Formats: sequence, structure tokens, C-alpha cells
Amino acid sequence: MERTGYEPELGGVLRQNAVYVDETVCIGCGHCAYVARHTFFLEDAYGRARVVAQDGDPEAVIQEAMDTCPVDCIAWVSYQNLAHLERNRPRQVIRNLGIVQTRQV
Ligand code: SF4
Repeated sequence: MERTGYEPELGGVLRQNAVYVDETVCIGCGHCAYVARHTFFLEDAYGRARVVAQDGDPEAVIQEAMDTCPVDCIAWVSYQNLAHLERNRPRQVIRNLGIVQTRQV
């Protein structure tokens, strides 16, 4: 497989694909962030999951989070596609989940 230069280095083992959350489909349940807590987090603005580190957890843990996502919105993508998807993220239309958030002072 052709290398792009964007692959993370994992102790000499290269992961061939990146993980990506489709935030327009995500329902913000938080399950992925619980299963693979070094890879996913819930962003503040809309409460959707986002990848914080591509190599935060072992691939099997990320795969478990992916396989158990209730709306199947986590996918492996090529690093070339990841760059394209991240460039387009600001243009996504994300609907508010209607969850009331309280601020602690
Ligand atoms: S498990 Fe799926 S629906 Fe739940 S927060 Fe993660 S990506 Fe979103």
C-alpha cells in the first residue's frame, strides 16, 4: 500500500487507515468515548463525538467502539480522505440535540 506520510507511527507499526466520526449522524451517546477514551471525546458545541487522537487506543479498542456505535457513524477512512473530510467539517450542518447543559460556576 502506498504511504502518504500522514500515517501515525505506533512503535514501528503503521496503521493504514484513520478513524472518523460523521457528526451529522452521531447522537452524542458518549459510548465511543467510554470504550476508546484516548481516541474519542464529545465536543462542547453540539455534544457530538470527535476523534482527538488517531493513535490514542489500540486498533481493536477503536474497532470495538466502532462496532458498538448505535448509529454506525464511525468509520475507517484513508488518510487522504481524512484530510478532505476535516477540511469540509466547518461546512457541516449539525442539528442541536436539545440536551440542556448546565454550567458550573
Ligand atoms: S458511539 Fe456513535 S453515536 Fe455514540 S457518541 Fe460515539 S459516534 Fe456518537
